[in-house]
Amino acid sequence: MKAAVLHRYNTPLRVEEVDVHKPHEGEVKIRVKAAGVCHSDLYVLEGATPVPPPLIPGHEAVAVVEEVGPGVSNFAPGDVVVSSFIWPCGHCKNCARGMENLCEKFAEARAKGVLLDGHMHLSLNGTPLRVFLGGVWAEEAVVPATGLAKLPKSMHGRPELAMLGCAFMTAYGAVVNSASASPGDTVVVVGTGGVGLAAVNVAKAVGARVIAVGRNPEKLKLAKQLGAEVVNPREGDPVKAVKDLTDGRGADVVIEAVGTEETVDAAVEMTASGGRVVLVGLMAVGKRAPVHVARVVRGGITIVGSYGARPRVDLPKVISLVEKGVLRPDLLAGPFYKLEEVNEAVEALRSGRAIRPIINLTS
Ligand SMILES: [Zn+2]
Ligand SMILES: [Zn+2]
Repeated sequence: MKAAVLHRYNTPLRVEEVDVHKPHEGEVKIRVKAAGVCHSDLYVLEGATPVPPPLIPGHEAVAVVEEVGPGVSNFAPGDVVVSSFIWPCGHCKNCARGMENLCEKFAEARAKGVLLDGHMHLSLNGTPLRVFLGGVWAEEAVVPATGLAKLPKSMHGRPELAMLGCAFMTAYGAVVNSASASPGDTVVVVGTGGVGLAAVNVAKAVGARVIAVGRNPEKLKLAKQLGAEVVNPREGDPVKAVKDLTDGRGADVVIEAVGTEETVDAAVEMTASGGRVVLVGLMAVGKRAPVHVARVVRGGITIVGSYGARPRVDLPKVISLVEKGVLRPDLLAGPFYKLEEVNEAVEALRSGRAIRPIINLTS
């Protein structure tokens, strides 16, 4: 099967013929229909998230189940699924206490670029290949069954649903699980990329008032279409703009979906006393951002990191909200590229032109 292989950081991916093993215990082999391109992939391509190449990136997909490994009873060949970037082991302490997105065994596998049982299921001319959370920029992938959720028949044939596996699952985790946003809350979303706009969509869905902060007028237009008020930092201090829109008190929740020192600082300053700052925007591993401690202490502000959501608990809820037309990945996904055009898809995201480029393997 063909896959996009990264041989060295900061070099173009090469689409090559790769061998894939049979699924092991608890694993599923999928045929990828479409896969999203996410900023987390860019971090891997640049070495800012260090997973040693050669490797195959890609961590959100819509796919068809081809073969199930021993012990997998809840999926069968032919099922259409969303493949997410989190695979809970189901047994560790965090899994046991319902925090499957923080599965300890999964975190180990992620850092090494291997599957949960530690093996590498792909090889190129005999050389084992690592994966970044699935390696779905490929015709086929082997992933743990715990990272999958089935799509109902009415949702088949929609390549944009690849976005549910990371962008929308992350947004749902941030808004619902980490921020506990509820009707009447004012939620500011800093950043209008895939996760940011998905967070706008989810926050509106829970009945919050939403203010989106971003620099790109086209993306702000989309935020408006999703029901948000908008603030452009190019037109003035965004902290002041948010304060002006909230009678001087600030927001109950600020979702930070960019990951720079400047935006993390602004997120804290925009938050009302007693409010929550939810960090979802990644920085390079090891990078730090200063925090205005006096404001955090005196304002009783909670700063919380949010990593994805629980694929077996939350992803079906996300799917159901998309089925009802409440969440709109169709507005955010694209442009669409062939696997052979993977480097163009990466460039479209890096340049900021696209919100969520999608590699469509059915085209
Ligand atoms: Zn992602
Ligand atoms: Zn676990």
